[in-house]
Amino acid sequence: MYCVRIKKEGKNVRRNIPLLFQSSRALFEPFSVLFSLRTTEERHCQRATQTEESTLIMPKGPFASSVGVGRAEPEWAKLNKVDGICGRDVMHQSGEKTEAPLKLEDEITSGECESLIVPEDGGFDLLIVGAGLSGSVIAERCSKELNMTSLILDKRDHIGGNCYDFVSDEGIRCSKYGAHLFHTNFERVWEYVQNFSEWIPFDHRVKGRVEDENKELKLVPIPPTRETVNALFSANVNTDEEMQKWYDEQRVVPKSEDGQPRNGEEAALSRVGPLLYEAVFKHYTKKQWDKYPEELDASVLLRLPCRTTTDDRYFSDPWQALPRRGYTRIFENMLLGDENIQIRLNCDFFELKKSNALPKHKLVVFTGQIDAYYASLGMPKLEYRSLEFENTYVEEPEDGYYQEAMVVNYPSSSVPFTRIVEYKHTPNQPSEQPLPRGTLIAKEYSTDVGEPYYPVPNPENRALYEKYAALAEKEKGVCFVGRLASYKYFNMDQAILNALEMYDNMKENGTLEPKRKPEDFGPGDGPK
Ligand SMILES: Cc1cc2nc3c(=O)[nH]c(=O)nc-3n(C[C@H](O)[C@H](O)[C@H](O)COP(=O)(O)OP(=O)(O)OC[C@H]3O[C@@H](n4cnc5c(N)ncnc54)[C@H](O)[C@@H]3O)c2cc1C
Repeated sequence: MYCVRIKKEGKNVRRNIPLLFQSSRALFEPFSVLFSLRTTEERHCQRATQTEESTLIMPKGPFASSVGVGRAEPEWAKLNKVDGICGRDVMHQSGEKTEAPLKLEDEITSGECESLIVPEDGGFDLLIVGAGLSGSVIAERCSKELNMTSLILDKRDHIGGNCYDFVSDEGIRCSKYGAHLFHTNFERVWEYVQNFSEWIPFDHRVKGRVEDENKELKLVPIPPTRETVNALFSANVNTDEEMQKWYDEQRVVPKSEDGQPRNGEEAALSRVGPLLYEAVFKHYTKKQWDKYPEELDASVLLRLPCRTTTDDRYFSDPWQALPRRGYTRIFENMLLGDENIQIRLNCDFFELKKSNALPKHKLVVFTGQIDAYYASLGMPKLEYRSLEFENTYVEEPEDGYYQEAMVVNYPSSSVPFTRIVEYKHTPNQPSEQPLPRGTLIAKEYSTDVGEPYYPVPNPENRALYEKYAALAEKEKGVCFVGRLASYKYFNMDQAILNALEMYDNMKENGTLEPKRKPEDFGPGDGPK
């Protein structure tokens, strides 16, 4: 039996529940040695680092590779250019020892602007709506290099936007808005983020609990690799060539005249064929979007990864890492203690505007929803998918962990949630005290109500966004930035680069304008 506390909609309940999937325990035999032989203390190990503090306590977790915690096997781990702890956490260097988000001054969280010290010459240079990555990067750059002043407003009670993480009451670092894994292809972004945090290499690897051809649940790598098809379909694929052949035999060419897929189903079948489509992608897509692939744009499934190797890393970017003291620390280092930057939380821009309570400013940088900005025009709203998190603290998990990886996906239609995240696996857990015996898990349910997370990619929404974008282009004194204002799923690194490039324009010609279109940054991961 697991003993759990479930937190859903603010309620805190304690109950005993039977061990889930007990019958499939045998599947985890390969991990059983790790499960059974280690005590809680032994789950902490010392690792060499590149910084002056040459050791780091981290949990081993049951998913360590031969390289270490959170790392892929050597052949793939070596592709990650982050090979040890790097970067700097100025706050930590100057003596701040806590790892949870810092308690912010009352004035910052007060929800009012009266206590602000407004610069004399025409007010703040920038009034930034949103304390997420987009707003914070612009405030930080404009302050450090151009000595410009900013007021950052956010309607939430914390900085960090969707990247916000914190240490739970039980002592586990977790994300408020869903697990965030940093990975980037952009060297400029990697150089930039190292100014605000120490970083730990992390090769994100995901497992899926997937039904095989006999309807038995198997734990397999996601995205599918050779191991996945061998385990699910009794294939005997051992080389890249054999895997390529397997795909070639499986793939279904779309029937259209030009051979191009007309919808998501045709796209998926043309990429991976019917077996993987049915087992891994079809019902998962339905759960994520509440639409079957055939009802979605081909583009949504056209990028399904087709691995021919044994590479089981989720991302293939050259830099993959986690911030050692969490994402919130990045924002603390960027914003707090900078005399040019003032922050007010619990402040809704529209309410302050309506009541004429906004302080004087020269330019608005708006990182909220573009359709909310134009709500008074009565145009239709842009559609979003959201997530509901069911957080459960499992007090006495067998062997200290609930599942075999940080993220386990559930593609089948027989369970309503899409995936379970177990934060304890990440190597950036607080090091001030030993990890608790229990573990925190978050079940993710996809929904169309709640926080706006994923733009819904279909022609209607695209056309509607174009109308909003045309209005935004003509708007004087307001610059629209970031994932909500661009109606575009930006990965963190894309959001950072977009903001950095806008800042470049500010430096070069005094205008805060994008250098390229949101879509030019690449597609972004979207729902995972
Ligand atoms: C569930 C989920 C998981 C993700 N996982 C990853 C991942 O693993 N890797 C990765 O690279 N990226 C991931 N991302 C993307 C990442 O969160 C974004 O790239 C990043 O948050 C973009 O920053 P932003 O500043 O543009 O937007 P946000 O972080 O959303 O910030 C916008 C801010 O504006 C505020 N705001 C809006 N309207 C108003 C208003 N009227 N008044 C005041 N404030 C307002 C909001 O409260 C919010 O804090 C994920 C996103 C989601 C939704």
